[in-house]
Amino acid sequence: MEMALYANIIIDISHEKLDRPFQYRVPENMKNALKIGMQVLVPFGNGSRMLRGYVIELTKEAEYDVQKIKEIASICEDSVAIETQLIALAFWMKKNYGGTMNQALKTVIPIKQKAAAKEKRRVCLTLVPEEANVRLAEFERKHNVARARLLEALIQEKELPYEVVTQKLHVALSVVQSMEKMGILCVKTEQEYRNPVKGRKTNDCHIVLNKEQQAAVDAVQKDRMAGWFGTYLLYGVTGSGKTEVYMELIAHNIAEGKQAIVLIPEIALTYQTVMRFYDRFGDRISILNSRLSAGERYDQFLRAKRGEIDIMIGPRSALFTPFSNLGLIIIDEEHENSYKSETVPRYHARETAIERAKMAGASVVLGSATPSVESFAKALQGEYQLLRMSKRIAEKPLPACYTVDLREELKMGNRSILSRKLQELMEERLAKGEQIMLFLNRRGMSGFVSCRACGHVMKCPHCDVSLSWHSNGRLVCHYCGYEEPEVSICPECGSKYISGFKAGTQKIEMIVKKRFPKAKVLRMDFDTTRNKEGHEKILSAFANQEADILVGTQMIVKGHDFPNVTLVGVLAADLSLYVSDYRASERTFQLLTQAAGRAGRGEKPGEVVIQTYQPEHYSVVTAAKQDYEAFFRQEMEYRKMLCYPPVWNMLVILSAAREEEAALRAANRMRRVIAALGCEGLFVIGPADAAVAKVNDIYKKVLYLKHEDYGLLVDVKDKLEHFLNGNRDLKDVMVQFDFNPMNGF
Ligand code: ADP
Ligand code: ZN
Ligand code: ZN
Repeated sequence: MEMALYANIIIDISHEKLDRPFQYRVPENMKNALKIGMQVLVPFGNGSRMLRGYVIELTKEAEYDVQKIKEIASICEDSVAIETQLIALAFWMKKNYGGTMNQALKTVIPIKQKAAAKEKRRVCLTLVPEEANVRLAEFERKHNVARARLLEALIQEKELPYEVVTQKLHVALSVVQSMEKMGILCVKTEQEYRNPVKGRKTNDCHIVLNKEQQAAVDAVQKDRMAGWFGTYLLYGVTGSGKTEVYMELIAHNIAEGKQAIVLIPEIALTYQTVMRFYDRFGDRISILNSRLSAGERYDQFLRAKRGEIDIMIGPRSALFTPFSNLGLIIIDEEHENSYKSETVPRYHARETAIERAKMAGASVVLGSATPSVESFAKALQGEYQLLRMSKRIAEKPLPACYTVDLREELKMGNRSILSRKLQELMEERLAKGEQIMLFLNRRGMSGFVSCRACGHVMKCPHCDVSLSWHSNGRLVCHYCGYEEPEVSICPECGSKYISGFKAGTQKIEMIVKKRFPKAKVLRMDFDTTRNKEGHEKILSAFANQEADILVGTQMIVKGHDFPNVTLVGVLAADLSLYVSDYRASERTFQLLTQAAGRAGRGEKPGEVVIQTYQPEHYSVVTAAKQDYEAFFRQEMEYRKMLCYPPVWNMLVILSAAREEEAALRAANRMRRVIAALGCEGLFVIGPADAAVAKVNDIYKKVLYLKHEDYGLLVDVKDKLEHFLNGNRDLKDVMVQFDFNPMNGF
């Protein structure tokens, strides 16, 4: 690389004006030493006060009058490397995903907030093992399932973090209290816990890796020893032992005196997973979740910065843990949508992790049984190194999978949403006392209310969507929460033939209850889980086997392990295929594979019924066979044909405003700016209405851009940001950029 002559520098992070970098000349004697992210002293303003700044870019081109550019005074010796790295990362995010520097910095560096320090509590067993086992047998006999589950965990672990008990084991507070009264356990606060001599013993006798696992570990370690820090895609079927590979790599990493970040989608961060990490690494772990307040997150990050922990586990935002000697980033279930941010900057955790790793000298391991099409394509091209694990550890067979053609069902005179095959298998399970999960692809499938006389549909007055009928007799908007009472007379024509179809999952719940009157049915969807408690309550009730059947949406298919579930029914597999989104097939494949994976997690083998109107669709066919690579090949053909990512790159530009006219005008002006750039091979589509064209009285228009080269799209974004900044009359329009969208606007 040629030497940079100028450095773009952000002055003091607490300053409000930091949105703009200032340019300084790099003195001759610094040219070798100066790196992006370093802290420097620079003369600032008229008085040339010496202020600290961070180098965010090195360049050969002067952006100002060369005569007026001042020189960097010195590199700060005590330069806090980690902050500078994160700031450089924020700059990279701003550049690659759009938005302001401030928004990027706020994403990367948590804001210090005064939060009352929460007491950390632990639940500890007070009985000796023999007594505990006696009590356990007693609970099991009496079917005190929650008590038994907690006691069983305590016998194994001696003590558990309180959050693990309530959130991961799904044991209610009342149960903990009653067991405390019985003298089985006690709840200790952090102070008590920290003072005494003890500390959790970690498990030394860990699992011996099999050949495939060892090969994966060796591949990464060999590179690390040679000073090469790459990106690896660990493509391993469910149950092939990926988590053990992660832990082995982390152990190596810690032995080298480095730290590790493990990203796991929150919904998959289950009790079992958490405890495996605790068991292996003891207390040098911290766990983040999205329910933490900004202040709590700040505290966790402070612990990381002080070196009190070596491993941070959490969702997307854990990526910004300020470890100063980061050696490894693991992204489990790398295909998950939740790794893409839905707020500005709309970054993808995978790409951002790779960038952070580059700065820190760390390796990145992406793991999945169904890798994203992007990652698998990159692995095949050699950009990532592909590590395969094709054998399941316990040799548990994959569940048997039946595909039912719903058109045939209708022909045979079955008009129920439950196919004959599914009903038959359900009956069998209920007789055996095993559990069933029924999964509906989308919430509120037919929840709208319409007039049979004139066809009028009840819509939200603020959003471009129909209102959903709820069994409490109200009409609800799922986008903004607007509610109104049910109507008995059509507001358009006065007819009284206006009625609602019951929301999808509710309707199924009713059908199931009618068909199997003796079965206990639980429902989990947007309505029953509106508060977080609801979510946990339903899961714990189902885990406690208080119900035979769980009916739900997407949220029931991920992560949770219910060993007694031996049958999974996917009621309308293809609904997600109708979504107007180039990822529809990929998402359908993943959902079906995951849903199928819920069956037979325990000792008993599982079965899956996929009901669909498109049994011949390749997503359905390949998912039923659990054949990822067959799916990948067909999907890539489709993406190639239509120039979609990962073959090409895509930029969606949202233009939103209170006046529809204003949103449209801004989009049209941007389109003209783009046209004037004269980029060869650039596709521009739009302006068009966003998928939901109005939300909360804000109108949304979108432009779609496609080009092979990501860098060119970034340039277009830069030019548009510049244009928007220079046109004050557009300031009432909110413009956002989304590269290679996952969920769209
Ligand atoms: P994945 O993350 O790929 O789904 P896990 O790491 O959860 O797989 O492993 C599945 C199960 O197999 C776990 O219970 C784990 O403890 C066990 N396991 C993993 N590796 C081994 C091994 N080498 N020997 C014995 N058991 C193993
Ligand atoms: Zn009407
Ligand atoms: Zn609304």
